[in-house]
Amino acid sequence: MFDYLIVGNSILGLMTAYRLTQFSPNATIAIVGSSNRTGGATISAGAMLGVFGEVTNSIFSSDLNHRQFQYAHQNTSLWFDLIDELNDQVELEEQIKIHPNGTFILLNAHGTSKDDTPNYHAILRALKESEEPHTELEPKDVPGLCPEERARSIRSVYIPGEHSIKPIAVLNLLEKVLLKTGNVEFINQNAIELVMSNASSAQIDGVKLKQGNVIKAGNVVVAAGVGSQQLIDSLPVLKGRIPYLMSGDGVSYLLDQSVLGEHKIEHVIRTPNRAGACGLHVVPNIDEPNSLYMGAGNMVQWESLQGASMESANWIMGGGMQEINKHLADARIRQINQGNRPTPIDGFPLLGASSSVNGLWFLTGTGRDGFHRSPLLSSHLVKKMLGENNWSTAEANTLSTFEQFAPERPLIELYSQDDAIKLMASEIDCALHETGGLLTTGLHAPFPDWLSNDIRNIYQELDTSLALQPMVIFPIVCRRWKPELVKSYLESHKQAWG
Ligand SMILES: Cc1cc2nc3c(=O)[nH]c(=O)nc-3n(C[C@H](O)[C@H](O)[C@H](O)COP(=O)(O)OP(=O)(O)OC[C@H]3O[C@@H](n4cnc5c(N)ncnc54)[C@H](O)[C@@H]3O)c2cc1C
Repeated sequence: MFDYLIVGNSILGLMTAYRLTQFSPNATIAIVGSSNRTGGATISAGAMLGVFGEVTNSIFSSDLNHRQFQYAHQNTSLWFDLIDELNDQVELEEQIKIHPNGTFILLNAHGTSKDDTPNYHAILRALKESEEPHTELEPKDVPGLCPEERARSIRSVYIPGEHSIKPIAVLNLLEKVLLKTGNVEFINQNAIELVMSNASSAQIDGVKLKQGNVIKAGNVVVAAGVGSQQLIDSLPVLKGRIPYLMSGDGVSYLLDQSVLGEHKIEHVIRTPNRAGACGLHVVPNIDEPNSLYMGAGNMVQWESLQGASMESANWIMGGGMQEINKHLADARIRQINQGNRPTPIDGFPLLGASSSVNGLWFLTGTGRDGFHRSPLLSSHLVKKMLGENNWSTAEANTLSTFEQFAPERPLIELYSQDDAIKLMASEIDCALHETGGLLTTGLHAPFPDWLSNDIRNIYQELDTSLALQPMVIFPIVCRRWKPELVKSYLESHKQAWG
């Protein structure tokens, strides 16, 4: 019997375990998860430690989005201290570094003035509001940026304080530090279900492993990324009560950029996000200057998949050569990775205690930038678990925001259904311009209206008055998902919450 059992052995699971060892040094902790971390998000991530590239216009139209941005920003300054603190606990040769060269964000000519330009302006506004040092510069002066003419950048901004790190190096370092405490046991297997002591007691007992044995603990933290949905489904008492966890299917390349010579990429360079999509980005590697990470699409899937899709792989490869550096055409591909970002259907994390099952806790659903946000999320969860009230300034600032992320909740809605439809139509219009889809046909004039009508019909079929995130409707518009998939979840949500 352990004091704490954490299901999930990637960034959020390990950070939670680390915080537990800090705040409750004598507690016994089990971390359950197969060591290959197949399909996990962290191991395929660029691990940019930044927030401004994630900013879209929506942070200024919704208070919750704005607060979510502010707490994400607070994490940036925590990373250097955190890595120093972890490095102090291992031998010199085991220590790791943050890549210190900063980030360039581009507004390029490949999107639309209707979407991408307001998002870029929102980034500048957020930089000023947060008093984050930055410099706007001519795109021709961005080192390593060498796009094709028709995809050239119109504007660019340099943020010297936003960096990146190798995610696998952080996971390895955390594992070493945790093992040194002597109180942490790693169990190299996945859990298949959550176990309650008996159906009527509403108290968690532990988890059942793939091989059939049960590991018991007084508290269980579900931090298993997209794998968390299977565990939620294993307890009927949770049906419809927790926002469904989809997968934000992301693809990334590891390239050998040695052929780039003077055009070598030594900073993070990225395009901004859109509401449902992930910007294109290249991330250098501090240990191997010839190695370059390039990612990442975000095709939302109802269930996690394995293996890179041709569509995402094609988009990233084409985008990287056209929008970032045409000389990448000569780079060699070392590896293609795919990861499933844990993405709740309403877009906000699952953080805190279950209100139906005592001793059951959640930390997942962090989507596109959960690596960066892990320091504050994990410290909040652990202090809540321990009943601590001794909050640092950064933690205290997040309290009211984090309360809204309670895992058992009605779906969070940020806008009306009409606004959701307009946003979706505009996003698709923008994506089609980026890929050249509408340029030669003359269909760009009627297209947004056709699309809006189609989306309205989808809402009717879903029979819901909720405003859903564009990422949930997009796959139905593309006829990739049948509406029944979403409808069935919405029915259970309605039964749970009315
Ligand atoms: C391509 C890509 C690029 C990204 N880039 C960035 C970035 O630059 N910056 C950033 O901040 N974020 C980025 N992200 C997002 C970030 O990776 C995630 O938000 C974050 O890593 C999620 O961490 P996690 O620990 O919750 O989940 P995961 O990393 O998915 O880990 C879940 C773990 O749980 C284990 N598991 C699953 N099921 C079970 C089970 N039943 N029992 C036990 N264990 C289980 C898995 O093996 C895995 O180890 C990116 C994601 C992707 C896919």
